[in-house]
This record gives sequence, C-alpha cells and structure tokens, in this order.
Amino acid sequence: MKLTCLGFWGAYPEAGSATTSFLLEDEGFTLLIDCGSGVLAQMQKIVPVEQLDALVLSHYHHDHIADLGCMQYALLINTLLGKRKDSLPIYAHREGPFDSLTYQTYSHGVEISADRKITIGPWEVSFCPTVHPAYCLAMKFSSAGRSIVYSADTGWSDELVKFCKGANLLICESSLYDEQKDQVPGHMTGGEAGQLAQLAGVEALILAHFPHYGEHQRLVEQAKQRFTGPVQLASELKSWVVK
Ligand SMILES: [Zn+2]
Repeated sequence: MKLTCLGFWGAYPEAGSATTSFLLEDEGFTLLIDCGSGVLAQMQKIVPVEQLDALVLSHYHHDHIADLGCMQYALLINTLLGKRKDSLPIYAHREGPFDSLTYQTYSHGVEISADRKITIGPWEVSFCPTVHPAYCLAMKFSSAGRSIVYSADTGWSDELVKFCKGANLLICESSLYDEQKDQVPGHMTGGEAGQLAQLAGVEALILAHFPHYGEHQRLVEQAKQRFTGPVQLASELKSWVVK
C-alpha cells in the first residue's frame, strides 16, 4: 500500500498548503484520510475527484473536515459532467454532524465505531478512541499482514499503545514540543510520539499535525530520544510504500 501526505499542519494551512491529510492507495483503490482546509486542492495533484473511492474522517474539528462541503460540490459537478457515477462513501463516527455527510446522491455517510472492524476497499480497518476534546478515532489499515496506523488527534493514551502494536508504519500527531508537555490537552509532543512508537514496537514513525512555531526538525529530535526506529516529518506529496 502506498501512503501520500497531502498536508501536515494542525489548525489551519499556511500559504499554499493543507492541514493534516493522507491519501492511501492499494489495488487501484484510493482512500482519502481526513479532509481539512486545503486538502481538496492538494489531493487533485495526485488523483482527480472522479477517481476517489472513499473518504474516512477521524473527527469533526475544522482542520479535519473544512473542505468537506467543497468536496461534495466537486462530486456533484464531476457527476453532472459525466466523470463520476457512484456516490462517495464517507466513513465517520456519529459524534458530530454525521447527517451532513450525505449529500443528495453524490456522497453518503457510513458509520464507523471503535468496537467494529470494517472493510474499506482492500483494507481491514479498525478504530480506537483517542484522548481529544472532540470524540476522535485513530485508525489502523491492514492488508496482507501489513498495517499502517493513523493516530489522528490525541493526547497520550495507553490504549493507543496497544492499538499500534506491531504496525509497520505509524503516522502520529506531534502538535507540541516536549517543553509544552501537558500544557495543551488532547495533543502530543514529539517525545510522546516517539515513546508511543517505541512501546508499540512499530517499524517506522512519521510525524504530522505540526504547530505554527518552532523548528519542526526538533520534533524529530525529540521523538528520536525515545524511539530507536526511523522518524520522519510528513512533507507535502511525499509517499511511503508499505509492502
Ligand atoms: Zn482535533
């Protein structure tokens, strides 16, 4: 499976970029993970709207759903132009405006929950509640014995350590620098992301959901103090292949 970063910012995108979002592709199936500000424009650098097969949302904060309305307009227009036929499934939990995910015949909400594994395209997908002011689900994509975990937004969570066990790749939020530990509820520091990766025994760590201050490379240094595997910053349009 191939993972591509579309954006890495928390809260809002800086000029010409997008909030944290990833595209996951395998066996001809294309899944968008979160749809915040700037994501729709970034996505079209990789895949046209008519070829998107599904969207999954971790939670309903603006930096994860801001482009949803424009995505639905794009689905409508691409359908009217004869480029799209199928309604886009939008997978999300119900702790938010779930009903708005269904837009005429162009998109429809599909409920996800922490206690149920589902199949999306070629992946078995499972979910884990995170520690965040809004109800939020981390997600694990598994196929052919390989797995990728996306932490979404979260503070430190022992549950998440169990959930991430043995993943080949962990995309972890690192909204904070270590000196800010416990100052902002519902988010993690670079060091905590490293600790999560180490305790879960993942193969590699990608940091995302960055703050709008400081040197992001310091997040990597802080993660590396606790995690012995490879650590990288998410960067726009960079891809990772897990096989
Ligand atoms: Zn959030």
